[in-house]
Amino acid sequence: MDNCLFCKIIYGQIPSNKVYEDEFTFAFRDINPVAPVHILVIPKLHISGLTEINHENSDVIIQITETARKICKIEGLESDGFRYVINSGKYGGQTVFHLHLHLLGGRKLNWPPG
Ligand code: AMP
Ligand code: ZN
Repeated sequence: MDNCLFCKIIYGQIPSNKVYEDEFTFAFRDINPVAPVHILVIPKLHISGLTEINHENSDVIIQITETARKICKIEGLESDGFRYVINSGKYGGQTVFHLHLHLLGGRKLNWPPG
């Protein structure tokens, strides 16, 4: 989609620190990491966020979680644990309106989040 930061990253119009790519998903390191491992996993299909998920496009949730699982293995996060986060809307702290899963790991994460 025009003017979407993450679509531009997928198509290489904006550089990223890519860690994984397949037919349906793309993953890259967050530019402002909040944990030793902080990777964003996104569908190649432009979907603005969780509120746009429906029966027709819900495959993207499986696609991004499967990719995140592969990356957990690659990054060695399985033994100590990790967290998936999807922020939604103003109160959820969403700033980029292309669906993305934050994969966080490499340190003990606080709960509840602030
Ligand atoms: P959210 O606040 O959940 O919408 O997450 C957006 C994330 O995108 C934030 O953690 C940002 O640090 C990250 N981000 C923004 N621009 C870039 C970029 N060019 N490359 C990598 N990560 C980015
Ligand atoms: Zn997009």
